[in-house]
Amino acid sequence: MTSAPQPQHAAPRSPIRGPALPIGLAVAAIGVLLSIASAPVVPAAQAALALPEPLAVQEVPAVQSGATTAADPCAEPSVLAAIASADDAAIIAGFGGGERFRAAVVAGNAPCVALDDPAHVWVVVNKARPLNPLTFAPSSLSDLPLQTTTRSDRARADVAAAVSDMVAAAAAEGAGTIGANNGYRSYELQVTTHESHVRANGQARADAASARAGHSEHQTGLALDLVACDPSCGEIDAFGATPQGAWVAENAWEYGFIVRYEQVGSGITGYKPEPWHLRYLGRELAAAYHAGGFHTLEEFFGLPAAPDYAH
Ligand SMILES: [Zn+2]
Repeated sequence: MTSAPQPQHAAPRSPIRGPALPIGLAVAAIGVLLSIASAPVVPAAQAALALPEPLAVQEVPAVQSGATTAADPCAEPSVLAAIASADDAAIIAGFGGGERFRAAVVAGNAPCVALDDPAHVWVVVNKARPLNPLTFAPSSLSDLPLQTTTRSDRARADVAAAVSDMVAAAAAEGAGTIGANNGYRSYELQVTTHESHVRANGQARADAASARAGHSEHQTGLALDLVACDPSCGEIDAFGATPQGAWVAENAWEYGFIVRYEQVGSGITGYKPEPWHLRYLGRELAAAYHAGGFHTLEEFFGLPAAPDYAH
């Protein structure tokens, strides 16, 4: 069946926008060369040198020029200790941060990192990668600390804490009140949810809008569907066009979230754009995702596109 709403335009492994740092360095180098070649320095060259770096460059973490990636990051004592304590943030830090973690995974140099383990923030769940086990449930869940419009009002504790910080920042910055429609959904609830989509719209349209049971990020406790709540909470479909939706698209990464299903990535994910659906990655990985200009988690981790179910 064909559930992808668009043909696949982008190569699966190349982010839409490449890392900004080398471009920034190149611009700086050109500016330096100009100033050397045309002494006394012409005003235009001075202006080029004086330009502030683009925001994306400023956001890229500083790289230690003498540092090299460990031959086997999984053998690093700090990583081994973090694995023993199941501390995802410490494991990522042990790799040298989000971008180095990502690069090691993509290079096949992270045997201690399983992208199909739903207990970790780096799990990738899509139409080709069901949860393992299929009926997985998080070990613990917390109530979401914001207005909720359904009884699917829980998430992992770290996700609940992060979304609390995020909605407080959005309100403080004048973006308005953010609530949640759905957080964690169990395997059993996902069976019901998907079946209702199929009954209403048929299989193909249902698969473009709703995951089959065992294939939903909501089952990991790492995903949230947001709504705007001024004055009362609206529907998820309306979220993208609200000030809250615009704020989230711009700022969610700073709180550890990505907008998982964007228009530009729909040929890879097989889902229509969902500006309301946030996926928690933790701050380190979400910052690397943002800085690298990625638009799908599949590209971020160098995985194949997954627009359709195998059967
Ligand atoms: Zn969702």
